[in-house]
Amino acid sequence: MDFVELEAIEGLRWSWNAWPTTKNEVSSLVIPLSIMCTPLMQSTELPILPYDPQICTRCAAVLNPYARVDYLSRIWDCPFCYNRNHFPISYSGIGETNLPAELFPTYNAVEYKIDKVDSKFGSNLHLNYGWSNGFSSSNVSLSSMSVGTPRNIGGAGGEVRGFVGPVPAFVFVVDACMVEEELRAVKNELLLVVEQLPENALVGLIAFDAMVRVYDLGFSDCSRVVVFHGGREVSSEQTQQFLGICSTKWGQQQLGKTTVIQKLGFLLPVSECEFNFTTAIEEICSLAVVMPGHRPQRCTGAATSVAVGLLEGCSVNTGARIMIFTSGPATLGPGIVVDSDLSDAIRTHGDLINGHAPNYTKSCSFYNQLSQRLSDASVVLDLFACSLDQVGAAELKGPVESSGGFMMLGGVV
Ligand SMILES: [Zn+2]
Repeated sequence: MDFVELEAIEGLRWSWNAWPTTKNEVSSLVIPLSIMCTPLMQSTELPILPYDPQICTRCAAVLNPYARVDYLSRIWDCPFCYNRNHFPISYSGIGETNLPAELFPTYNAVEYKIDKVDSKFGSNLHLNYGWSNGFSSSNVSLSSMSVGTPRNIGGAGGEVRGFVGPVPAFVFVVDACMVEEELRAVKNELLLVVEQLPENALVGLIAFDAMVRVYDLGFSDCSRVVVFHGGREVSSEQTQQFLGICSTKWGQQQLGKTTVIQKLGFLLPVSECEFNFTTAIEEICSLAVVMPGHRPQRCTGAATSVAVGLLEGCSVNTGARIMIFTSGPATLGPGIVVDSDLSDAIRTHGDLINGHAPNYTKSCSFYNQLSQRLSDASVVLDLFACSLDQVGAAELKGPVESSGGFMMLGGVV
């Protein structure tokens, strides 16, 4: 099989081009099984099924060729969570020689044309449509079926336009201690970026200096922010408590299931907060006074931790990015690189190697914990730093690398 050709049709790239069928096989894989999917890839060759997908009642995965099917009792085992699911009555004709299209071994990726829109998408209760067109015994040509059209689906954060699926979230974390000229440039770029995001993408905004300020983008009467002390380490639960977000426990979350996000202003679809976002961006400025002979007080670690806590609280387990824009080292709180007093020189490369950087180990251990939280919440961390000053990239390297983020460092003379 030509995998490159197949990828061009399905938009799927596998680490292994096979699905392990037993738990033993899974544990013996040296490289974990992973599949990179391009959901919006333009392809005219994908089969379109004119009925609703069968969904696992436990993990919301969709019935696919890798499910084990018991034709006699009409039960399929979910290949993700091993839950046993019953086929609805409309699948009563199912048999080894009479497969619905979604079970064809070559149909790794299919499109569903869904006629009925139900905000309870994810439950099996309403899935009683005929699926005879998809049977292998049917003569209907798949290529003659019409293409599904986007619809409004009730979902995360309210109405989500487009196809059913995960909504991406972006939290912009802006260092307010930058010199005015740099800050102006970052603000302009951010406004451009937000303009180009899909309207249903969720956005959040956090600014930091000695304090962390989380903007309520849903509050129009005036500028409303929740302020965190930059010198303290706050846990995920505390962050959510201060922001007033309730969330399900992470352990209880299920892979691939879009949970309902509370209607809160800290993370909103672009279409609902574009004006407030623009206003908030314009307002960002440093509120901390820089003492003579001192560096600005900058709590990069606390700000990052709050951003992760926000995404954890909103249960955005469908992919999110935290983008940090900074221009100097953390001088306060968790993840500190150097003291704000300029008489303390910042650690050098040699200090890191020789173990003469007093804050380094502690900061790395803070960021390592953060790495775990980022992975658990499917969040990517990016660091953008354009500054002659050092920003503490060595400390931040762990979470950026392990989450698959970008680290862009640049200096302008
Ligand atoms: Zn399942």
